[in-house]
Amino acid sequence: MTSKFTRRDFLKVASIGSASAIALSCGVFSLDEEEAVTDPLSTSADVLALGAGIAGLAVARALTERGRTVIVLEARNRIGGRLWTDSSLGLPLDLGASWIHGVEGNPIAELAKEFGVKTMPTDGKNAIEFAADGSELPEGEFERMEALFEDIYEEVAEMQDSTDDDMPLQAVFDQVIASRRLSDEDLRRLNYYIHLVTALEYGADAKDLSLWWWDQDEEFGGEEAIFPGGYNQISDGLAKGLDIRLGEIVKIVRYGKDGVEVETSAGNFVADKVVVTFPLGVLKQASVKFEPPLPESKQEAIRRLGMGVLNKVYLKFPEAFWGEDLETISYVGERLGEWCDWLSFAPFTGEPVLMAFHGGDRGFALEDLGDNEIVAGAMQTLRVMFGDDIPDPESFIITRWGKDPFSFGAYSHIPPFASGDDYDALAEPVDDVLFFAGEATSREYPGTVHGAYLSGIRAAGEI
Ligand SMILES: Cc1cc2nc3c(=O)[nH]c(=O)nc-3n(C[C@H](O)[C@H](O)[C@H](O)COP(=O)(O)OP(=O)(O)OC[C@H]3O[C@@H](n4cnc5c(N)ncnc54)[C@H](O)[C@@H]3O)c2cc1C
Repeated sequence: MTSKFTRRDFLKVASIGSASAIALSCGVFSLDEEEAVTDPLSTSADVLALGAGIAGLAVARALTERGRTVIVLEARNRIGGRLWTDSSLGLPLDLGASWIHGVEGNPIAELAKEFGVKTMPTDGKNAIEFAADGSELPEGEFERMEALFEDIYEEVAEMQDSTDDDMPLQAVFDQVIASRRLSDEDLRRLNYYIHLVTALEYGADAKDLSLWWWDQDEEFGGEEAIFPGGYNQISDGLAKGLDIRLGEIVKIVRYGKDGVEVETSAGNFVADKVVVTFPLGVLKQASVKFEPPLPESKQEAIRRLGMGVLNKVYLKFPEAFWGEDLETISYVGERLGEWCDWLSFAPFTGEPVLMAFHGGDRGFALEDLGDNEIVAGAMQTLRVMFGDDIPDPESFIITRWGKDPFSFGAYSHIPPFASGDDYDALAEPVDDVLFFAGEATSREYPGTVHGAYLSGIRAAGEI
């Protein structure tokens, strides 16, 4: 391979002794070795990007294109972070993000075009909804629930504007609901809908979201689309030609006006500047030490913002007993949020695979159960909806993002008394040396792939 190792790099490596030999023992990932811009032996660069998720890859690609040397340090033995396509069930399935949320003007849709990656819209029109006893909801009932939610939410939104103090979103829902005389069944359906738009979208229940700020994020218009071949085609496309070191668990980031030294599980790296893209959950756990400690304003933001959870359970069956064309299955069960929202992969991949979401407290609770108990719970609910004769799954995958040591959750949200300003505080550079990217530094698009990507582009611009 062509070495672009500069004299300056050599001097830096020489000054830190044997660290390069240690770094050698770890994986080096480059999809196109010919294009790598730093020598895989080098432990110094202009910039270190900490984390090879979408934000770290975006920053590294943008700076590399501008002629900077960049090394990406990644704890896991794979790139992508919360983009994670797994093929152990015989087809590519996304365990982290699945959707491009709104393709119009969305940079991820642009990347999909650039990399020639196939996407498919999911409009959710081919849907079926079940009541708790397994009977199908009457035609138009889901739309009625939606209208009831919107009516109640109009009042909630008025209070969002008029209250003097922030409070949990749930408190205001409770207040508005109490003023109506809803039947038990309507109440159950309304709570189901509230769960969909809070726990399953923001990874947090309404009691854990700020009335004022919970939905301050912006959206792109257009279709929602998935990647039948897996979201990792986007991270792989971005990673082309980058110098990525896998299995490098960052332990300490020492920074000052003259630059930065990063200590990992395997060695030391030096650079003029560093971009931190660790998930908010990792920053909250303080499993990476900053020397000197991060400014108080940033620590406050880390404490105030919330890291929620969304987990997925994939089940692969011998056949699509629910119907080849069906896209989504809703279940308004007795236990709020349990096995309530399903997506079929048959229309997108031709394979008999179902996926269920669990979010917020329900998502965290799922992680404490054993695999067999979880699969048994799924089957019990599916049998209520589709009858006792349906087959057991041949194989399954269960995610546990809350317990993942390099994520500690799925994505960020704004709890009561935090605000959109906390995202800005997290994004703020320190001493022109330490820069920040990642979904939780995006005030406009937190909790999304496009938000993480755009934050990486922003951080590259700041550098
Ligand atoms: C289940 C789930 C479903 C989702 N669905 C969608 C969706 O449909 N659409 C959408 O737009 N978004 C979705 N998201 C959110 C989206 O995946 C994230 O917002 C985005 O991928 C975050 O990218 P990032 O670069 O900020 O962080 P990450 O991808 O988490 O990257 C950070 C990297 O830092 C690494 N790291 C952590 N600690 C260390 C350490 N000590 N040393 C070195 N490296 C470390 C991690 O391993 C990781 O690779 C979903 C997320 C989840 C979990």
